[in-house]
Amino acid sequence: MNDKANPRPTYSFELFPPKTPEGMGKLADNVQRLNAVAPLYFSVTYGAGGSTREGTFETVSLLCDRGIETAPHLSCIGSTRAEIRDILHHYRARNIRRIVALRGDLPSGMGTTAGELAYANELVAFIRAETGTAFHVEVAAYPEVHPQAPGMQQDIEYFRQKVVAGADAAITQYFYNADAYFAFVDACRRLGIDIPIVPGVMPITNYSRLARFSAACGAEIPRWIRMRLEDYGDDLESIREFGHQVVLNLCRRLIEGGAPGIHFYTMNQAAPTLRLWRDLGLPGAGP
Ligand code: FAD
Repeated sequence: MNDKANPRPTYSFELFPPKTPEGMGKLADNVQRLNAVAPLYFSVTYGAGGSTREGTFETVSLLCDRGIETAPHLSCIGSTRAEIRDILHHYRARNIRRIVALRGDLPSGMGTTAGELAYANELVAFIRAETGTAFHVEVAAYPEVHPQAPGMQQDIEYFRQKVVAGADAAITQYFYNADAYFAFVDACRRLGIDIPIVPGVMPITNYSRLARFSAACGAEIPRWIRMRLEDYGDDLESIREFGHQVVLNLCRRLIEGGAPGIHFYTMNQAAPTLRLWRDLGLPGAGP
């Protein structure tokens, strides 16, 4: 499943911009620990409508200042072309070569202004028109179908439009069912979509947060996993142990099945991702 054009596996880490200076300090420590295993790049999320603009810039700077390859996320909903152009120029000036291009979801309370670009394929086309091939452009993909999509085939067709617009690779929403990923990739290949589709993996460390995220983004927590996690209640140690084994097995299946790498949603915590990295025997993980 590793495509010919990009035979090097892509292992990457996602961060979000902390809200406080203390959070930024903690993040710097976690970045140092995570960077020790030399992932291909770190990505940094961006709140739609520019809601985390400064925090994203600050987090991107923290990474760039350490010489780390960085992929800022950029979402278009709620923004004008001029605002997006400014951000692209800012990143080019910092020598950034990767962007994760998204539509985004407007946070509640930000009004209903949709902005000038309605969907991620329009953002990808805009990035290409403005900056040519200056950026390696990643887009989102949904093996378990985006929650607002009218159906699976139509969602894949919209995904194809992002590729036609110029996306180089995709990162998936997280999931806990490897078969959903493999079926999605097969369906994409049948439509001639040949870019790498890197599975996004969310470590399990906290049940209530995971349940909240999953309900919002349409990621399914299989019933047997959900029931076990609910049974553990406040026993965080057992949640972490069980969660680690579940996600480790998922990663093993993905790698054995030919996934072109893994994008870890680190949630700004080094330990759960590094433990997975080590137990998977990924390069640079140490003894
Ligand atoms: P799109 O690809 O535009 O799709 C959005 C929806 O519209 C889908 O239901 C699709 O089927 C439908 N659609 C697409 N094109 C059309 C069309 N032409 N006509 C009608 N319907 C269409 N959110 C953030 O705010 N900030 C982040 O940093 C962020 N990072 C993310 C990283 C990854 C790897 C992933 C998987 C998601 C991330 N998200 C982020 C969440 C993402 O913004 C939401 O899932 C959002 O709802 C969809 O974004 P998209 O880029 O997939 O949108």
